[in-house]
Amino acid sequence: MKDSICFDDVLLEPQYSEIQSRTEIDISSFLNGVGECKSPIISAPMDTITESEMAMSMFVTGGFGIIHRYNSIPEQCSMVRDACFNKQQNLVGVAVGVNGEFVERAKECINAGAKIICIDVAHGHHSNVRYALKVLRNTLGSSVHIMAGNVATLAAFNDLADWGADSIRVGIGGGSICSTRTQTGHGVPTLQSIINCSRSDRDATLVADGGIKTSGDVVKALAAGADFVMLGSMLAGTSETPGAIFNDPKRGHTKIYRGMASKEAQNDWRGKVSSIEGITHTVPYKGSVENVLQDIKTGIKSGLSYSGANTIPELQSKAIFIKQSTQSTFESSTHIISRF
Ligand code: IMP
Repeated sequence: MKDSICFDDVLLEPQYSEIQSRTEIDISSFLNGVGECKSPIISAPMDTITESEMAMSMFVTGGFGIIHRYNSIPEQCSMVRDACFNKQQNLVGVAVGVNGEFVERAKECINAGAKIICIDVAHGHHSNVRYALKVLRNTLGSSVHIMAGNVATLAAFNDLADWGADSIRVGIGGGSICSTRTQTGHGVPTLQSIINCSRSDRDATLVADGGIKTSGDVVKALAAGADFVMLGSMLAGTSETPGAIFNDPKRGHTKIYRGMASKEAQNDWRGKVSSIEGITHTVPYKGSVENVLQDIKTGIKSGLSYSGANTIPELQSKAIFIKQSTQSTFESSTHIISRF
């Protein structure tokens, strides 16, 4: 049987550093065919995470967002236009499926200003994704960046790259609102998938997706070979996410964060429910996403500095992972909280 590790199983060993200030550290990352992004952070295509406001803030802060596909084509196009403020140079992505009107959806969103098309399915190592990549590439040409996923294995990563994906979302079953592993018994710890997929000799960009809880996890994902991280829960509850703010007498201000395969999301978007592989959850309201992203970016820079690395590629070449025991995982947390 194969072994696997997850984010909490490992730490990065601190290394000699000559970095004087976090301002010296460059956390930009290269997106295949598009160019350098100032931040390696992408917001997830979920209906409680990315619509126009989030997509715009993600771009302003150096990364980008993928607008979810649980809407009509005109609605999604209008979100793209709002995120671009008619400034066509904004980097905005949109999610599409693999059935029905997905080609039309992709074409219209590109016309509205989207620069990235994300083929967004739960099990990306599938003939439907091969077909969708072929059709979209033939229709859109080579200048549009196509992201696809999700996958969990090196074989899947290589296949999607060979089928024409420019970037690939890596991670199955690790999402904070995901119940795929419970429901189906399938999945791979996200860090293990990143390690395996980063061994690929293809030049597709690796996007680590699902289960990233802290800036420390972001650093581990990047160190293991991810070029970008896709975030859901870390951005959930911010002002820029879609949905109302509730005032809960016990928990204060809250917002809803839900899996796109949750019963509630399926009912809202398809009017029926099939395999339930996600949940709906209430999260604390966090205020502006710019502050949240600033904290994450500061944590990433601090992480690079502990490894003595000025850039993400340098981190990837220098990183030394060590395994930690359950007891050391406890020591790694702010353990006074459980003692007093
Ligand atoms: P998080 O950052 O851990 O909250 O995970 C977000 C990721 O979970 C998304 O980018 C998707 O890949 C994945 N996801 C979204 N909805 C569902 C679902 O209902 N079930 C399983 N995975 C999901």
